[in-house]
Amino acid sequence: MIDRKMYVRICAGLLSVLMSGCSQAFIGAGGFFSNLGGGLNSIGTCLSPLAPVDLNAVFTKAPSVEWADGSAEITDAPQDEVAAFLGEQIGKDIQPADYLALRFYRLGPLTRGEIIQIETLSDVMDRVCLYDADFAFIPAGSVRDFDGRRRTLQIPIARDTAAAYLRIDLEFLSERNEPIGRLTRIGNTPPPAPRPQTVVLHFGGQAEVTFRNGLLLPAEIGAIDDPAVRDAAAEQFRAVYAPFDMTVLTDSDPLPTGPFSVVYIGPTDLPSFNYGLSEIGDSRNAYQDDVAVVDSNQLALELAVVLGRETYGRALGMIAAHEMGHLLGLEHVSNPDALMTGAQCQGAGVDIERMLARQLKKAPLTLASADLQEWFVGYQDPVPYLLEILGPSVPQPQ
Ligand SMILES: [Zn+2]
Repeated sequence: MIDRKMYVRICAGLLSVLMSGCSQAFIGAGGFFSNLGGGLNSIGTCLSPLAPVDLNAVFTKAPSVEWADGSAEITDAPQDEVAAFLGEQIGKDIQPADYLALRFYRLGPLTRGEIIQIETLSDVMDRVCLYDADFAFIPAGSVRDFDGRRRTLQIPIARDTAAAYLRIDLEFLSERNEPIGRLTRIGNTPPPAPRPQTVVLHFGGQAEVTFRNGLLLPAEIGAIDDPAVRDAAAEQFRAVYAPFDMTVLTDSDPLPTGPFSVVYIGPTDLPSFNYGLSEIGDSRNAYQDDVAVVDSNQLALELAVVLGRETYGRALGMIAAHEMGHLLGLEHVSNPDALMTGAQCQGAGVDIERMLARQLKKAPLTLASADLQEWFVGYQDPVPYLLEILGPSVPQPQ
């Protein structure tokens, strides 16, 4: 189990690292069957519905950036109104350093075809989120994701928006009021073409699985030999991503020739509070060769085991689909019926069919969770996003 100190630390990580996949999963207060984490959760005793707290009013407190010739600098200066609002809403539950490290900026209207380039000028700038006028999240990412290669982000604007809002998560609190980032508007650029994705669901066991971001110690993944479990998992996974241009293979198929991601599925030696782990949310699927892990060796999956091999396989497939969402740039949302739920206990209880019915749907974007409470800022709408970056499914010749 996880002790209180660890619990708080991980929650704090949710705010400051924000949505780095399911490595931030943690355990709630409801005993071992309320294991929390990526994909599947709330199996067990927690039945109390939980209403996430809407923090969207924070956007009205955001100062405007000053554009000059299509360029603007932003600083890490304290934002008193933002801090006061967040402090009032979440300050009693989370350490102040976490919400004080958030900055919001209003960018004004943006036009379809523009690209917003964000260049980091300081190591204090960690994560960037862009929202449109309806507070829908336009996936941006981290300026230091994976191995620190990225110092610049380019965010294509797919739709006109009357206003846009930038959220910056600071790595640490410096408040020197120095420039931390430069924004540049690059006009009239054709949007990047969708890039299909290939993924291999790997059931055959693998030693020494690591992530490039270093967040996974070399893990040992055991094999799943039962063909009924493997087939059910692959079928469930394929159903989730059927609308998109994604090729889903298993380790029984020949290795693809182009780049591909791998989701290892099997019993692991990972700490017991994770269902699945993925590399840091891969915004706009910048990397087509990521790795995720689904741990089949979870106490909370015992219910699925009791319900039969097919249900167990489907549950594994759903967790794999959730982790794949992270590898494509999706983040946690506050809706227990959404595939990307990072929810702890939202009344799903023991209803495993409800969990297996989770869908890619528009839902509030989770900012942080603590003590069975969740706060959200903006919304994530995964279907148009995945169509934009992957393209629609291509009918296969019969
Ligand atoms: Zn997750």
